[in-house]
Amino acid sequence: MGSSGEIERGVFEKIDENWDREVAFLRGMVRRPSTLGNEAHVQRFVAGELRGMGLAPDVWEIDHAEIARLPGYSPVEWSYAGRPNVAAVLKSSGNGRSLVFNGHVDVVPATPEHHWTVDPWGAEVQDGRMYGRGAADMKAGVAAMVYATRALMEAGVTLAGDLVLQTVIEEECTGNGALAALARGYGADAAIIPEPFGRRLLEAQVGVMWARVTVRGKGAHAERASASVNAVLAAVPLLGAVKELEAEVNGAPGRPPQFDGIEHPLNYNVGILRGGDWASSVPEECVFEVRISCYPGEGLEAVEARFKDKLLEAAGKDPWLSENPPSISFYAFRAEGCAIDRDEPVAASLVDSHRRVTGEEPGFFSFTGTTDARFFNLYHGIPATCYGPAGANLHAPDEWVDLESVREVTKVLALSAIDWCGTV
Ligand SMILES: [Zn+2]
Repeated sequence: MGSSGEIERGVFEKIDENWDREVAFLRGMVRRPSTLGNEAHVQRFVAGELRGMGLAPDVWEIDHAEIARLPGYSPVEWSYAGRPNVAAVLKSSGNGRSLVFNGHVDVVPATPEHHWTVDPWGAEVQDGRMYGRGAADMKAGVAAMVYATRALMEAGVTLAGDLVLQTVIEEECTGNGALAALARGYGADAAIIPEPFGRRLLEAQVGVMWARVTVRGKGAHAERASASVNAVLAAVPLLGAVKELEAEVNGAPGRPPQFDGIEHPLNYNVGILRGGDWASSVPEECVFEVRISCYPGEGLEAVEARFKDKLLEAAGKDPWLSENPPSISFYAFRAEGCAIDRDEPVAASLVDSHRRVTGEEPGFFSFTGTTDARFFNLYHGIPATCYGPAGANLHAPDEWVDLESVREVTKVLALSAIDWCGTV
């Protein structure tokens, strides 16, 4: 093996040489829609790519009973049948530090698809951007971590520590995919998740929960609407209470310093509202779901109780709701917030690699959403951060990723693996 400059040059050459294949791999992932429950196609595709590289991917279904006992578990209302996780290990012979590259393959819905100006599952490229649901969040990151690994292998770099690749499901609703991958033994001494954060390093993320509020009305034929209770309209004061609570928590003192410069760190998002089934019937029931969030260090039970108390207080002021209080439950995300120190050695590896690839200093940032980094940091003592490509319109129409940033991230990940694991 040559000097570190020669190793670096050899790896970069491979990444550039494989660039068209990397883009084709990303396109193949984007063209396999992998919304909740539909992840198998893309996971088989990823496993095939890993096999083609000479790795032996483990493709397994999550054992719900097993993960339900673990800290960080989020309760689900669906099955794990036919929805595999994938992991593969590039084994080392040395005694260097090991590293995880983790990426999620699940994507959020693209509906309403007619709001897109391109096919959400078409992976069209225009002006250096690839468009599509999941192109940025985070199939581009998965392409980068897989092709960083491929370049190391093809350039003949022998790492001194194991490199563990995980492609997991359910980052967008529970994190149970990452939870299960760690439970199966796919840990390491540090982890990098190439989420599309514009080549910045994650230093903190909020906690997230999903609340479901069910409001009862008094159904009737619309001709008697004035003498009945419309559940959709009955929900309105509760929606107002959600926004009021959101303003209170954002205005409260005690904000962690990582979130100081952020205008509105805690978003209480009414993401679903369902009520009624016929224009000439008074809705008997209205259900709305809210994504709520909290700072690192806040206990989820207290956050839950604060939400319930606020809505029940608002219900108490309403003649119908005080007699017919809403039922409030929580499901899916039970994600605690977490933080990672800027001077963690794995962050230093990324900073140094970013400098060598781009000639610039990377930024650090705090995310007002959650990522799977929490499982590594909070429950396994594995320092984990995110560092990935640049893109926009995540969870919105016309999501895109900047392809040149994907190439840079591929190089940064490869260098970080060399730096972190060492070579033999
Ligand atoms: Zn993501």
